[in-house]
Amino acid sequence: MSTFQAPKGTYDLIPPKSGVTLAVREAIAAPLKNSGYGYIETPGFENVELFSRGVGESTDIVSKEMYAFETKGGTKLALRPEGTASVLRAALQANLHKLGNLPVKLWYSGSYYRYERPQAGRYRHFSQVGAEAIGAEDPALDAELIILADQAYRSLGLRQFRILLNSLGDKECRPVYRDALQGFLRALELDEDTRRRIEINPLRILDDKRDAVQKQLAGAPMLRDYLCDACKAYHEEVRELLTAAGVTYEDDEKLVRGLDYYTRTTFEFVHDGLGSQSAVGGGGRYDGLSEMIGGPALPSVGWALGVDRTVLALEAEGIELELPATTSVFAVPLGEEARRVLFALVTELRRAGVAADFSYGGKGLKGAMKSANRSGARYTLVAGERDLAEGVVQLKDMESGEQTPVALVDAVNAIRERLA
Ligand code: AMP
Repeated sequence: MSTFQAPKGTYDLIPPKSGVTLAVREAIAAPLKNSGYGYIETPGFENVELFSRGVGESTDIVSKEMYAFETKGGTKLALRPEGTASVLRAALQANLHKLGNLPVKLWYSGSYYRYERPQAGRYRHFSQVGAEAIGAEDPALDAELIILADQAYRSLGLRQFRILLNSLGDKECRPVYRDALQGFLRALELDEDTRRRIEINPLRILDDKRDAVQKQLAGAPMLRDYLCDACKAYHEEVRELLTAAGVTYEDDEKLVRGLDYYTRTTFEFVHDGLGSQSAVGGGGRYDGLSEMIGGPALPSVGWALGVDRTVLALEAEGIELELPATTSVFAVPLGEEARRVLFALVTELRRAGVAADFSYGGKGLKGAMKSANRSGARYTLVAGERDLAEGVVQLKDMESGEQTPVALVDAVNAIRERLA
């Protein structure tokens, strides 16, 4: 063991399990790539104000969880706690919204950082795949994103997830509701922290998990009753499009989410096998975010799915993904000449697209066969001096144990045929 350990709240991805993480990322990306979303990558850190203005000063993410620091040059930066603000910043910077082709549809995959109290499913460094559709107000776009996330989870075999859906209203109707809710909350018996919250972020209190708080919330005014006609009609259309697409969802009037930029459509994907950290993904519309960070009005919608928790959800459902074989053929040379010949053959196999590996380090037959077994290879290639003299290599089927000589000149074809 080294003197060092991974920092608290982080973990390493190690084979073979790391293969599952890669497969999850690919499964989430596939429907996006197939639906007009282009790949975007932004830096791991940004100007800290991008997040304090975008995500919101009063949110837990910004007020407690951000890895903010000052560089030697005096610039205030933060490790990104989420993806949306950065992606929108990059799209504005590159003037993608001026190319006359709205919405700009983008997807991304990367690491995010939040100084949270670590527990199962909640880490300080975690991984998300996300999608953003920038610059269009169209319920079909909200529906598209929810449908694509549903498709991604289903393609992985997940079934025990639910989609929670809500509308948070817009800049017309939400302030009226906010006032009404504040009036109601101020009359309750709440601790000091929560009281402070009433003034800066009252909607978040609806989301409070504590029983003592939830009990008092019975009878609280609900946003549903305050939505303006435009928001109501918009939300109704999102719901209808989802239903028409056969995507089941639950209306959840208390769904708020921890980021200030959401307007109208808000949704979360929860998995019932994950315990308290049950959200595997979430998102919504953020019509005001562009203006908050100095851009023009660009109504937009997006989501981010948590890769770590999706892997945990697979485990909870007992799903084992079929991962591509890491090694199909493993070569075991006996002697110096065989080493050169088999190394060349492995190179040729790899160039022909066959997953092949080699026994390195001058191991004897026993040790090399152990490596072959561990590699999970379907076939082992063994060759010694006598085989080479005869122009053959021995191809051993690792399942049946059967061994057959194949002509060296034809070995690549012979192996490809067998693997097909
Ligand atoms: P959010 O950006 O908070 O909307 O989160 C989107 C998704 O990212 C969540 O549903 C989780 O699956 C995942 N996520 C957020 N925070 C963490 C964390 N600290 N550890 C692991 N996954 C997280």
